[in-house]
Amino acid sequence: MTTTTDSEAPHRLTGPQVAEELGTDTERGLRSAEAAARLERYGPNTLPPARRRGPVARFMMQFNSPLIYVLLVSALITALLGEHVDAAVILGVVLVNAVVGFVQESRAEAALAALAALTETVTTVVRDGGAMRLPSRELVRGDLVLLEAGDRAPADLRLLRTSELKMDESALTGESAAVTKDPAAVGDVVLGDRSSMAYSGTFATYGQGAGIVTATGADTEIGLVHRLVGQATSVRTPLTRKIARFSKLVTIAILGLAAVTFAVGTLRGEPAAEMLTAAVALAVGAIPEGLPAVVTVTLAFGVARMVRRNAIVRHLPAVETLGGTTVICTDKTGTLTENQMTVTAVAAGGRLYEVTGAGYAPHGDVLLDGAPVRAGEHPVLMECLLAGAACNDARLTEGDQGWTLVGDPTEGALVAAAAKAAAGPVPPRTDTMPFSSERQYMATLHENGTVYVKGSVERILAACDDRLSADGRREPLDADAVTELAHAYGCRALRVLAFARGEVDADRLTELPRLTFLGLQAMHDPPREEAARAVRACQDAGIQVKMITGDHAATARAIGEKVGLRGGVMTGAELAACPAADLPDAVERTAVFARVSPEQKLRLVQALQSRAHIIAMTGDGVNDAPALKQADIGVAMGRAGTEVAKESADMVLTDDDFASIEAAVEEGRGVFDNLVKFIVWALPANIGLGLVLMAAVLGGGELPIEPVQVLWLNMTAILILGLPFAVEPRDADIMRRPPRDPALPLLTRRLNARILLVSAILLAGAFGLFHWEQSHGASLAEARTVVVNVFALTLLAYLFNCLSLHRPMLWGGIRRNPWIGAGAAGLIAVQAVYTYTPTMNNVFGSAPLDGGAWGRAAVVALLAYALVELAKAVTRHADEARRHANGPRSPGGDAGRPVR
Ligand code: ADP
Ligand code: MG
Repeated sequence: MTTTTDSEAPHRLTGPQVAEELGTDTERGLRSAEAAARLERYGPNTLPPARRRGPVARFMMQFNSPLIYVLLVSALITALLGEHVDAAVILGVVLVNAVVGFVQESRAEAALAALAALTETVTTVVRDGGAMRLPSRELVRGDLVLLEAGDRAPADLRLLRTSELKMDESALTGESAAVTKDPAAVGDVVLGDRSSMAYSGTFATYGQGAGIVTATGADTEIGLVHRLVGQATSVRTPLTRKIARFSKLVTIAILGLAAVTFAVGTLRGEPAAEMLTAAVALAVGAIPEGLPAVVTVTLAFGVARMVRRNAIVRHLPAVETLGGTTVICTDKTGTLTENQMTVTAVAAGGRLYEVTGAGYAPHGDVLLDGAPVRAGEHPVLMECLLAGAACNDARLTEGDQGWTLVGDPTEGALVAAAAKAAAGPVPPRTDTMPFSSERQYMATLHENGTVYVKGSVERILAACDDRLSADGRREPLDADAVTELAHAYGCRALRVLAFARGEVDADRLTELPRLTFLGLQAMHDPPREEAARAVRACQDAGIQVKMITGDHAATARAIGEKVGLRGGVMTGAELAACPAADLPDAVERTAVFARVSPEQKLRLVQALQSRAHIIAMTGDGVNDAPALKQADIGVAMGRAGTEVAKESADMVLTDDDFASIEAAVEEGRGVFDNLVKFIVWALPANIGLGLVLMAAVLGGGELPIEPVQVLWLNMTAILILGLPFAVEPRDADIMRRPPRDPALPLLTRRLNARILLVSAILLAGAFGLFHWEQSHGASLAEARTVVVNVFALTLLAYLFNCLSLHRPMLWGGIRRNPWIGAGAAGLIAVQAVYTYTPTMNNVFGSAPLDGGAWGRAAVVALLAYALVELAKAVTRHADEARRHANGPRSPGGDAGRPVR
């Protein structure tokens, strides 16, 4: 199945054999020229795009609905009856409908396709002997790829070197336990046992490795699966599915009703042709055929707007869920803060130093009591700074934009601090124990046998036996004093690292020796500019914000205070000691979780979910994946995050900024709001038309509105007024309301009542005026024209009711969305044309009206507007009264107080 030329499968060959066969060097990789040539010849490393239907096929799909069949059949019957104009009108409407549907759908698909392009991955590749970051799509067979924990294998790789490499292959094999990899060749075994391979789409969860690309794109194992299953970017979400099901149900019910209407009418002796007309009108008028399309388009547009605000939604349902978020759990470093570290204080040899200078530039001084220190007089300070520079993987380089950092900002700050005091040189390094959030320290072994260690104060102190005194002698260590000092730095919102050194007599570093304490370095990491405002906005919106960090409790609390978090502080140790039964309460009360391990994040999510919270949680590391999956909205960092985290997330932030989460929640609420508004506005037209026609058939007599006239309304009122809804901006107060209760249905009882109220007004107004006009001398054509105008004007007035579901909105609505004004003017113009031009009179059977008739139609519309506003006011006041009775609502009990 694998595709290394025509000889043997790569997992059975040795690494060097595969390298030779693919013409690549196991250390230096391919030459760039060769790689470019291969890319040209074999194409990019991408899976073939999901087979999309062509435009013609997609256009034809628009006709695939029961309603369209009804219309086409009725057009045929109408034509057979000799009513050629009517038949043409029906066909025209069907066509317009299809075109609108096609255009909307294409735009929605384009918005989603753009999204797929944004989620491309990059890979570390060695070419010409140098490592570089390349988009995964540019990989070719023979490329030498480096993997580390958190990376995704970008193609099928034959591994050459591994160090403790473990891969999660669940995407391919379904096996959820990570598999240990090894470069040794294996025999003819199944996919899951080929330990010498790392397959495209699987993830490194631990360790490191290097391998040669043996297959790319569609030739990879996952490509084969992909080809079998196919993959479509569909716009299906729980909501669209629910609405599709709803409209299908309604369609079937209405078609049934239409059939019954036809049968009852005919049995009562009405002419069959007339009853058929009534049945068709009923079907056309009452079926909400535009609904699913509007929902899809609104969601797709919402997604596009979120992208503009730096949030990429990976799973469409997240758009709906976001709006209901009640808790946001966020990282501290890089999300609430800038992740721009600068060392500002050092404690070493019993002395407290200050460090000046900002950014990563090595310009600044180390001061003692305000005066710059002289090199040579402070050996322990120098050793502490040297430890920081030695136990370090970051590099600072000077470029056009000043000094920039490659690597971890925490480490960059240490390099800069050491450079300011000219501490060095760093002895060559022979081995490393890398930093991990669980370990909380990093250690390096150097050629002279020295081990430098840096990490959290707790971990380092636990490994230290003594300390270096001011003159460089070893003396007893007062751990409590150090802890106290670290706490004091933490209270100033500084991130504190402890430094120590030891010795080993080996060239590998397998475990930490006992250490000698060197000192502390404290670094400043300013809160992001937007963070406090965004936190505030969330709190106003009834959303709790909680910080989860691996950092020290005092630092976390101080940063929490700066950005305005409200609630208590809890450490990982306290969390671990908390009995499961008390956990939900404790978690609910707490705003800052410090020294928390990734595994504990999962417990936090579960505790909150047991309280029916909707949780958005950020994460960036390999071990955050379970929590990201468990959270209702997993949020990954686009810049600092690993591929594993991104893959497990529902949403990726391109700028890693907390404010973007808040923006996404706001957009999510907006999308939901707009959907509800549209549905609340559109349904009464359908229900009203259905009721009018049924009343007419049951009551006997002429139909108040003919099928072509129903079609006219569908085309004009519903289109001209409905389209501006798709571009409605969010309500200004959208982030000042509490979150939507996820248990509530899309349409609450109140909204259903509102829909029925307007439907009833339409029924009474249209049916009443139809008879009133005729009994006062109007012709049938005139009376029907009044009915059409009652619907048009009432839908127009009711549109303004629906611009806000809660408060009155008239001119404000036009000002914020000029399309609403244009739609209103357009509708009135179109109705005038409908009423007065002879062509329209011929085609649609309309007739000119006098001012009185218009006035009466307008009264119905204004009555609807006034009654709905009255209903809104009543519920608004009831809500306010209840809020007052309950006192000011602070979500989560006493979590309303600032961090303490
Ligand atoms: P967060 O990202 O939430 O700030 P981390 O898990 O990155 O937390 O860090 C936890 C602690 O580990 C820090 O408070 C610090 O003491 C220590 N630490 C952070 N980065 C490094 C590093 N590169 N090397 C050694 N120790 C580190
Ligand atoms: Mg970190």
